[in-house]
Amino acid sequence: MTGQTTFAEPSPSALLLLGRGADLASERGVECPGDLPAPSDPALTERARAAKEALGDRVFVLGHHYQRDEVIAFADVTGDSFKLAREAAARPEAEFIVFCGVHFMAESADILTSDAQQVVLPDLAAGCSMADMAAIDQVEEAWAVLDDAGVADRTVPVTYMNSSAAIKAFTGRHGGTVCTSSNAQVALRWAFEQAGGVDGDGKVLFLPDQHLGRNTAVLQLGIPLEQCVVFDPRRPDGGLTAQQLADARMILWKGHCSVHGRFSAQNVADVRERVPGVNVIVHPECKHEVVTAADHVGSTEHIIRALEAAPAGSAWAIGTELNLVRRLAAQHPDKQVHYLDSTVCFCSTMNRIDLPHLVWTLESLVEGRVPNRIVVDADDAHWARVALDQMLALPGI
Ligand code: SF4
Repeated sequence: MTGQTTFAEPSPSALLLLGRGADLASERGVECPGDLPAPSDPALTERARAAKEALGDRVFVLGHHYQRDEVIAFADVTGDSFKLAREAAARPEAEFIVFCGVHFMAESADILTSDAQQVVLPDLAAGCSMADMAAIDQVEEAWAVLDDAGVADRTVPVTYMNSSAAIKAFTGRHGGTVCTSSNAQVALRWAFEQAGGVDGDGKVLFLPDQHLGRNTAVLQLGIPLEQCVVFDPRRPDGGLTAQQLADARMILWKGHCSVHGRFSAQNVADVRERVPGVNVIVHPECKHEVVTAADHVGSTEHIIRALEAAPAGSAWAIGTELNLVRRLAAQHPDKQVHYLDSTVCFCSTMNRIDLPHLVWTLESLVEGRVPNRIVVDADDAHWARVALDQMLALPGI
């Protein structure tokens, strides 16, 4: 031993270690500004308020449901990623869109807003581990594997909103679409129709969340579980034979959310034992066995509405990000709100956006500097927009 520290070569999709380089072309930008206010500064709240007031209508602050309360307090609107991007596009007078969310969300806002609007992400290290699991080179290679197996011309790609602009552009170039957790059923049905009908032999390549793809296909479209295969980009040919690809209906990318993927069917059994009569509601990014063990499944907006509609005194165990669950508990003191698994933590990348980063961003804008601007290149923006417009054209959206 030389005493020197060595690091294993990271896989292409591994999260970069903070402070050890930057990859601004991907979800994994790690640049951290050096002149942040101290988190202990007692004037932070007042500084954020003053900077926002000075900017007036020139700034519009978006707060994702999974953000910290200290950030949500300054959001002009809260919501899921797609709702927020559309809200930004509906405010053309706002020169600066401060997106308190993660990198792919800011990209979507840049795609949907006008050229006169600049989208800012308060911390470039706020990426998404799920979006990082599908790099465009890997997806291009996977498509070549499907082509070699003779199934690409019967396959329509669908990507979850939680993916990079490059992946959304890939689906646009190949006649596919984007979906959210609210409209995945409609989007998948449309994709199967393009590929020859839900009962035909066409296929969907679903990126990057295998769980949302599987849960929607099996539980909402009635596709048999055995016709869902997982394409692993780290294995030759995705770890699948040409015959397995030919027999499959859903080709699921091997990606998942590091927060929702941690819930287990045992968590559901445990909370049912602990809290008699509890309603278990989970996000469709949870594993299939968790979703099938739960009473309800739905997007963050669906979960919020379910809690609003629930009778006083009812008990709920919620399987989604902790910031949202804590806020729901505070908003519904007349109901029992439990977290489905007490060991599951916050979304760590989303939580990189904190009050010091927001203050730094707003004060920079007041001083005439635009920090951490997110810009999608024109070609990717065009094709991603094609895929997003296709989603907006789906029935009932
Ligand atoms: S909660 Fe999951 S999908 Fe959402 S930003 Fe965090 S890692 Fe990505």
